[in-house]
Amino acid sequence: MSKLRHMSALPHIPLQNFSWSPQAERWRNRYAGLSEQLQRDLGVALGTAWQGDALAMPRWVLLNQGLARELDWPQGWHQDPLALNVFSGNAVWPGMAPFASVYSGHQFGVWAGQLGDGRALLLGEVDSPIGPQEVQLKGAGATPYSRRADGRAVLRSSIREFLCSEAMHGLGIPTTRALSLVASPQPVRRETIETAAVVSRVAPSFIRFGHFEHFAHSGEDGHHEALKALVDFVVSHHFPELQDAPNRALALLDVVVARTAELMAHWQSVGFCHGVMNTDNMSILGLTIDYGPFGFLDAFDPNHICNHSDDHGRYSWNNQPQIGYWNLRALAQALLPLIPEAKDDNQIVIDVLQTYEQRFPQAMRARWRAKLGLHTEQDDDGKLAVELLQAMASGKADFTITFRRLCDFRSDVPPDHPANAPVRDLFLDRAAFDAWAVQYTERLRAEDSVDADRAARMRRVNPVYVLRNHMAQVAIQQAQKGDYSEVQRLYQLLQTPFDEQPGAEADAGFPPEWAQAIEVSCSS
Ligand code: AMP
Ligand code: MG
Repeated sequence: MSKLRHMSALPHIPLQNFSWSPQAERWRNRYAGLSEQLQRDLGVALGTAWQGDALAMPRWVLLNQGLARELDWPQGWHQDPLALNVFSGNAVWPGMAPFASVYSGHQFGVWAGQLGDGRALLLGEVDSPIGPQEVQLKGAGATPYSRRADGRAVLRSSIREFLCSEAMHGLGIPTTRALSLVASPQPVRRETIETAAVVSRVAPSFIRFGHFEHFAHSGEDGHHEALKALVDFVVSHHFPELQDAPNRALALLDVVVARTAELMAHWQSVGFCHGVMNTDNMSILGLTIDYGPFGFLDAFDPNHICNHSDDHGRYSWNNQPQIGYWNLRALAQALLPLIPEAKDDNQIVIDVLQTYEQRFPQAMRARWRAKLGLHTEQDDDGKLAVELLQAMASGKADFTITFRRLCDFRSDVPPDHPANAPVRDLFLDRAAFDAWAVQYTERLRAEDSVDADRAARMRRVNPVYVLRNHMAQVAIQQAQKGDYSEVQRLYQLLQTPFDEQPGAEADAGFPPEWAQAIEVSCSS
């Protein structure tokens, strides 16, 4: 009774009228201001102030409340009267000044000219405990950069983008984040008629290599001034420690080489294939960006091509580190006009670029060491990993399952002891596994490794769950019928991919036979 009286003494807080976002001062759009200034002074814009197209009957499908908390948005932010429409592209909160940016890029190794935010729309930037963050919609309708396409994204690809962004985050891999997913019955034409959806994504910056290429390739003086303004902008906002570097463009290239090398090592280490590593899909911050026809390796084939449209395997798993390097070269090329110190031979730029040749292998060795549970460094650790991969490839052992089962490898018994059967049996060529395992055991002994400690270390870097294509496919098919429960379940599951979760045994197992027939392409 007294408790009730106490409760009724509290003021009623109606959630429906809850209003947080419309505080206009929270939102800013620094590109819009910079762009206006450049337009005025140089006749060159960074993009266009733009509004989303109307999306019919939107409904929330997924909300990332964990990310909202990281942003320090209050619980119930999505119940703001405008929120659903804001995150569908139908409305803006006061203070937002949406903006579509222009960029160019190399697609499949060929200069593609102007591209741009054809279906992405920056809503604005907010301060947060995790630093200033940009909030962007994907699929909010055509922009000046849509090049005759519709500016939409279908539910299928939006589910994949949301789930994989958060799965990568769960794996500890740098990525743009997903905040919300809104679905609509509005039809969208692809190979068949599908329905529209809008994902909102969050990152400190959505600037791509292609932004720099755009202003470098235009060739006119004003464009190089804009290029310089862009470098200054990115350095001052994201790499303030480089502001006083003798040459900011060169210093920027240096950190981007380092970050890209790290990112490629991360991708390789979890068997992630991006699928469309065009320079316009490369983040200047070294984040995984633009989830399309990506895939995680099932049966290990180093030449695996996840994008059905990638006829020549340019973006196969094995090629990714090399393509990262190729893309960095395109970035370096774009920055050249700002590096007069490069003079005739460009040697100073080449030297920075070529650090990738040490940085990537070094980052990759660190990842393999962690995956093998090694806690000391030895020169031939890379070789040990490569030989394991070779043995896996010869019998197409499942990438994720092999590394996870290797956590429980017993070094106190011979490789062919029944205790090691779970991992050993994954190898068609048992002798190859045994030969490798003898080396591994020697390596473990040399660093006085304790199996239980090693297993615990390895379980923190070798996931049980990755977003395999067939898992996404099942969730998508149900969602297309209006049942979002499987999408929700996967979203929860993939947030903690290193922990075995009850009821999710199938997600930790081998893909079903039909998974091999799944084709994902650029159509999204
Ligand atoms: P992607 O291969 O998805 O990275 O896209 C390459 C370029 O095409 C980017 O400029 C995208 O904005 C643009 N684009 C892709 N799909 C669409 C679409 N449905 N509508 C408008 N632009 C699109
Ligand atoms: Mg893209």
